[in-house]
Amino acid sequence: NYDVVIVGAGHGGAQAAIALRQAKFDGSIAIIGAEPELPYERPPLSKEYLAGDKGFERILIRPAAFWQERSVDMLLGREVTGVDPAARTVIADGEPIGYRHLIWATGGNPRRLTCAGHDLAGVHTVRTRADADRLMAELPDVAQAVVIGGGYIGLEAAAVLAKFGKKVMLLEALNRVLARVAGEPLSRFYEAEHRAHGVDIRLGATVDCILGEDGKVTGVRLADGETVPAQLVIVGIGIVPAVQPLLDAGAGGGNGVAVNAQCRTSLADVFAIGDCALHANGFAGGAAIRLESVQNANDQANVVAKAITGQGAVYHAVPWFWSNQYDLKLQTVGLSLGHDTAVLRGDPAARSFSLIYLRERRVIALDCVNAVKDYVQGRKLVEAGATPDRTRLADVRIQLKEL
Ligand code: FAD
Repeated sequence: NYDVVIVGAGHGGAQAAIALRQAKFDGSIAIIGAEPELPYERPPLSKEYLAGDKGFERILIRPAAFWQERSVDMLLGREVTGVDPAARTVIADGEPIGYRHLIWATGGNPRRLTCAGHDLAGVHTVRTRADADRLMAELPDVAQAVVIGGGYIGLEAAAVLAKFGKKVMLLEALNRVLARVAGEPLSRFYEAEHRAHGVDIRLGATVDCILGEDGKVTGVRLADGETVPAQLVIVGIGIVPAVQPLLDAGAGGGNGVAVNAQCRTSLADVFAIGDCALHANGFAGGAAIRLESVQNANDQANVVAKAITGQGAVYHAVPWFWSNQYDLKLQTVGLSLGHDTAVLRGDPAARSFSLIYLRERRVIALDCVNAVKDYVQGRKLVEAGATPDRTRLADVRIQLKEL
């Protein structure tokens, strides 16, 4: 039995334990994680780790000694399959483990294709270290790759593969990449960058099936009948939140576990944080959303640690995110969802610019490409809900902090 059981040894789970100990919480803490590894950073899996620029030790969130020194029990390689809120236990590998407070931080599982050939060897998703290792082991034998999905993970993976000299095609079903998260000028900029690096970006392209021989992928057939040879396929089409045991136990939700501003679920003393937490976000006009970012996992973890240690806090953290592709560093702040105007600041051709999103004249978000200053200063505009003059926003001679 533990005072706090954390399910999920990822970004949110790790930060919850860190924040509890920082708040001088001296009760017992266990983190139960399905993966065998200590908590590690996931973003490098499609960036520096995949590229071979950073080894696994360098992406650990904390070294092993940290967890021992703070008496955080790591129950790894164990999956929680059930929750009994009346008995206050979770079932991990058939064994009950008692909790006083439960923190559900399970993230999600990659959405998979359902078409013929989806399960052939050589078809990959990128969510875990094991996924990345399997993919990397195959790379030497790959000449041609197809990436399915033009979101951040697909684009980052395509950039790494292109850097390795592979012939890459990226398929996006919608009419632009990053369509769900960014404005059109940003999409067009990244499409052009990838094309300049040799990636064949196909928009409005859907997959009919994955082709294979002897159980191994040999290509992809598109809905229009074209056949593309490939020895490797990466599927980056989003995640399904890993919340079934909690929903089965009676927690409210659907596409994620519903939580309130303290990240409490509808079950007593059960919290949910990170990718799996469906919450009303003030930066999305109060809409119930799940945010898939390290920022959200960490900040929600901090809120829960405060709730458990009786300090009271509500979640209202400014969303931020980053993506590295080639030599381009994208930093985003705020949520552009529901913007009515996008102001371009700087020249995409110079490969340093920002796209500033407004709703009813208020700055709600920025996407900054190789523009750190705009990111840092623009963050204040988002926090303040500032309503600066549009022409001045677009004028690079005026610093954002002056607005
Ligand atoms: P996770 O970190 O996914 O941790 C959840 C853990 O719970 C996993 O280890 C899982 O195995 C475990 N688990 C699930 N179910 C169970 C169960 N039933 N029992 C036990 N354990 C379970 N975010 C950014 O902000 N910037 C980026 O650049 C960025 N790049 C990314 C690149 C990739 C390739 C990926 C996959 C994600 C990226 N993200 C990025 C998103 C970010 O990694 C996630 O938002 C973050 O990891 C969410 O933290 P979490 O704690 O909710 O979930």
